[in-house]
Amino acid sequence: MHINNRLKMFELNRTMNEEKIEEIGDNHVATSAKNPLRADAFDISDNEKIEKIQESVKDILETIGMDLTDDSLQGTPKRVAKAFVNEIFMGLNPANLPKASTFENNYNYGEMLVEKNIVVYSTCEHHLLPIIGRAHVAYISNGNVIGLSKMNRIVEYFSKRPQVQERLTMQIVQAMQEALGTQDVACVVDAKHLCVNSRGIKDIESSTVTSEFGGKFKEKETRKEFLQYLQMDTKF
Ligand SMILES: [Zn+2]
Repeated sequence: MHINNRLKMFELNRTMNEEKIEEIGDNHVATSAKNPLRADAFDISDNEKIEKIQESVKDILETIGMDLTDDSLQGTPKRVAKAFVNEIFMGLNPANLPKASTFENNYNYGEMLVEKNIVVYSTCEHHLLPIIGRAHVAYISNGNVIGLSKMNRIVEYFSKRPQVQERLTMQIVQAMQEALGTQDVACVVDAKHLCVNSRGIKDIESSTVTSEFGGKFKEKETRKEFLQYLQMDTKF
């Protein structure tokens, strides 16, 4: 092929890839069930990460024209870097996985346990903007029970990553299944994506619902019972 034609083909392929990448991001499509982490993700320490990110944030702010000598902005790069590593993306590090100790179900409670309205504060991996919502998690004990606050911790851990809501929902269920040794776990997440609410289509009212039903929750009656509990509007 003539060199010019080859260059044209290369250009064409590249634009097609860029279009595809844009399309995936705009439609919030997850390309894998696992968070796409590199193998060397934890080769450098948290402190080294904070140093590096701080420089990158500085770069971004300078590029958009901000004066970093202003008192109000001086500490921003460091603050953002610390928040990234220690808070909003802390769930990438397996060292932060909550210990989900279980207990024997001594009182033989055999019905479904539902924990509603667990706060979800996550980050969309396509736009790095917040996902804010609620998770509702349920399980049926097969002999083990888990502390209620541990369910919140599991939701929190998987939320603190660059995420896609479908993946988050599945990861919460899988972690609960592993901890409890049963497939009978379900989760519904209802969340607003600020990338949809504040930019792009700018729809402030819309929210996204995702669900994952394992084991007995795949059965119509069990699923119905769970969803009915979610509709209960208890006043406190
Ligand atoms: Zn997004």
